[in-house]
Amino acid sequence: MPELPEVESIRLALLPTVAGRIVRRVDVRTRSVIAMPGDPPAGITRSRCRAPPARLQRRLLLQGCTIERIERRGKQLGIVSTEGPALCVQLGMTGGLSLTDLPRPHEHIVWTLDDGSRLAFSDPRRFGLIGAHADVDDLMAVRWSTLGPDALRLRAADLARACDGSHRAIKALLLDQRALAGVGNIYADESLFDSGVHPCTPAAILPPESIARLALSIRRVLRAAVRSGGSSIRDFRSVHGHAGDYQMRHRVYARAGRPCPRCGTTLERIVVAQRGTVFCPTCQAAIG
Ligand SMILES: [Zn+2]
Repeated sequence: MPELPEVESIRLALLPTVAGRIVRRVDVRTRSVIAMPGDPPAGITRSRCRAPPARLQRRLLLQGCTIERIERRGKQLGIVSTEGPALCVQLGMTGGLSLTDLPRPHEHIVWTLDDGSRLAFSDPRRFGLIGAHADVDDLMAVRWSTLGPDALRLRAADLARACDGSHRAIKALLLDQRALAGVGNIYADESLFDSGVHPCTPAAILPPESIARLALSIRRVLRAAVRSGGSSIRDFRSVHGHAGDYQMRHRVYARAGRPCPRCGTTLERIVVAQRGTVFCPTCQAAIG
């Protein structure tokens, strides 16, 4: 599953090609990956929905619009046009945005730009989503208002506020997108190791200096991963089809049973918040 660094890598790679370009044509091959304003919630038949007419739908999917910028909150992207319409891109488990000359398998939507470039949303398992919005304010209100602060710009005060009064294990809190947007299993384990915090520590008892160290580690680990183009895990590929190489630098993730890179103690695997969790029992000793 792509996490924040993979999504940020996609954003940075797309920007130079698509910014300022006009969308000449939108081809929708799979309507079900799109959420239009007025679409019914899952489970209600489409005949009862109030989705806008086809011409307006194409406009909401940016046809005829100029791509102004690409924003990101956590693991989601916002493609914003000068004319107003904005798209929220959720990559889900296996989704991707790519710039390719030739069609690839599982392409659901293809945007043809005025310089002939071809931007495609593909998603073999279809857990991803393209949300169409009349403008960026609507996108933020509908899609992003429930998300916590973005992890790449996390301040210690943000993390302290999320931890305050929470009896959950700190790792469970880091994975909760409402508390903090963008951290998944890989970077939660790496950040907790980097800051020396035990993954099961109840968030509320973390001392202020540990919270400050953890916030710094989250930013540092995510920034290093963005610089490496993200981690190549399963289906993730960058927009140009290249693999990231941050997985070469994972210090604990998927390394249970091997020696801690800092102290040599054997790394242990436990389950926290239903997710496999690897940590060093010496460097990340439990509090109290
Ligand atoms: Zn260690």
